[in-house]
This record gives sequence, C-alpha cells and structure tokens, in this order.
Amino acid sequence: MNDRSEEVRRMALHLGFDAVGIARADEPLEVDYARYEEFIDAGYQATMDYLAAHASVRRVLSHPGILPGARSVVCVLQRYAVRLPSASTGIVGHIAKYARGLDYHNHMRRRLRKLADFIRKMESGATSRPLVDTAPVLERAWAARAGLGFIGKNGLLIRPGMGSFTVLGEVVTSVVLEPDEPMPSRCGECVACLQACPTEAFVGPYVLDARKCISYLTIEHRGPWQGEPKVAPWLFGCDVCQDVCPFNRGVGAWIDAGGPFDPRPQWHQLSLEQLACAAQSEGQIWMQASPMKRVRWEDWQRNVRGALGYDPP
Ligand code: SF4
Repeated sequence: MNDRSEEVRRMALHLGFDAVGIARADEPLEVDYARYEEFIDAGYQATMDYLAAHASVRRVLSHPGILPGARSVVCVLQRYAVRLPSASTGIVGHIAKYARGLDYHNHMRRRLRKLADFIRKMESGATSRPLVDTAPVLERAWAARAGLGFIGKNGLLIRPGMGSFTVLGEVVTSVVLEPDEPMPSRCGECVACLQACPTEAFVGPYVLDARKCISYLTIEHRGPWQGEPKVAPWLFGCDVCQDVCPFNRGVGAWIDAGGPFDPRPQWHQLSLEQLACAAQSEGQIWMQASPMKRVRWEDWQRNVRGALGYDPP
C-alpha cells in the first residue's frame, strides 16, 4: 500500500469512521449496474422516479455528473445498531434502528468534508467531493469493490464482524490511491433474509421489489397503501431482513451515548396509542432532527394506523 493510501486510511479512522476502503473510481461497475438496470426495467423502484432519472450516472464515478477526472473513491462505514436500555418500552422497537436517533447525515457530512479536504491537499490541483446520499451513486457496490464488505442476498453491504447495520459515505477524488481487494460473497446457502420478509418483497437473491417493501411503504410512499400490506409493527422503515442475518448476531452490543445514533428519549416512553392521538404540532416537534422528518404528517398518521393494525384508510 502506498503512503498516501495509508495516510487517508489513518485519517478516516481518526475522524471516527469504523472502517475504510479504497477503490478505483474510473472503472465502471458492470454486474451491479446490470442488476440495477434490471431493477429499473422491472419497475421495482415503485414511485421513486429519481432512481430511474439518473440511472446512467450511477455506472462510474468519473461521470461528469459526479466528479470528472475522478480516479479513486474512499468509502467509509459507520455502525449504528446500538443497544437499547433494558427498560425501553414505547415505540422505539417499531422504528428502524438507523432512525432512532438524530439524522446522521449532518454528522457524516462534517467528517467527510474534513476527509475530502485532507485528500485534496495531498496534490496540487486535486479535486475531491464528499458524498452522503447526495448524488446518484450505487454506494453499496462501490463499498464492496473497496473491500468494505460484500453484498448480501438482501442487497445490503455486510462487513463480517460488524454486520449490515451500517451507514456509508464516500469521498471521490482525482488523487490516485492504491485500491483494496473486493471481498467475495459469504452468504453461501443461507436464504434467511429472503424467507423472513413479512411482505415477500424479495423476488429472488439480490432483487427487491420496493413496491412491497415495508421501508418503502412507510417512508417513500405517498398517500394510502394499495391493499393491506402487513406493515405492523413497523412505523418507519423495517429491520427484519437484517435482524435474521447471521452476520448481525451480537453486533448491537454497544452504546452511542450522546452520539447521533443514541435513541431519542421520548421514543422509549411514547405508546402507539399516544402517537395516534398526538396533535400535528406536537408530533412534528418529536420528529424534528430525526430521519423521520422526511415523512409527511398524513403519511406518518397512516403509518401509525398501520402499526396499530388498523385497516388502511
Ligand atoms: S440472511 Fe443469509 S442470505 Fe441474507 S444477507 Fe444474511 S447471510 Fe446472506
């Protein structure tokens, strides 16, 4: 490994990321992009039109829409599955683990900017761009290419020893860094995630039909649901295909006290019934600063009714 790559790696860990890997940014994704095109062609993106709108940009990071002249991508990973206090009740278990605390994007963005500045200063005239859900990028595929983990049959990045309850970020740069080796898949014969999905949203290994996915239905979908999807007990997102994964056994045993993933105290006490009766102003204050703020109030109420097991409106 060259000295620059080692410096970048050390800086990423110093900034608090749990793992870092490097890949070439100017070699297109082939298998992952073909899989993505099939996903779009089949309409599995549901109403998420933005996924289809910039599809070709996702193939390579040196695309003009990302960073012309890009040569390397530094991928970072942050764990988020924190242990809940044993006295936890309330709605906390109905919220996907990544969304129980503050919106993590700000926290990631600040540190990615520092990493991007650090890399930019390595070379006169260099460019670098930090990304955290801010551009059309197949971030799991790039993370896998950078050796951060492998893509599981549930489509998520899995890092042995850390599991899949992780968020990802990238710095794309014109600086040439030494790439890491990709990690081969380790799912083997296991199909636990595909079988456990309550709504049978997996068409097959690596292929998710978002139209049936509880995460999509509770976060992205606007208006009433079609039919009666089995969203209960989920209020926002879903963790089932990760909870059953053997690579996630035992990874939620740490506490992010005061950090962005520390669950918000009110989620430990509020009941679903209290949520159903909450005024809009009160509810929106609870949701402010959390990833849940992106759900419209009327869709949030739909989710609460769904979690309570009521028929959809
Ligand atoms: S549950 Fe099994 S098949 Fe699914 S991602 Fe985990 S190891 Fe792979």
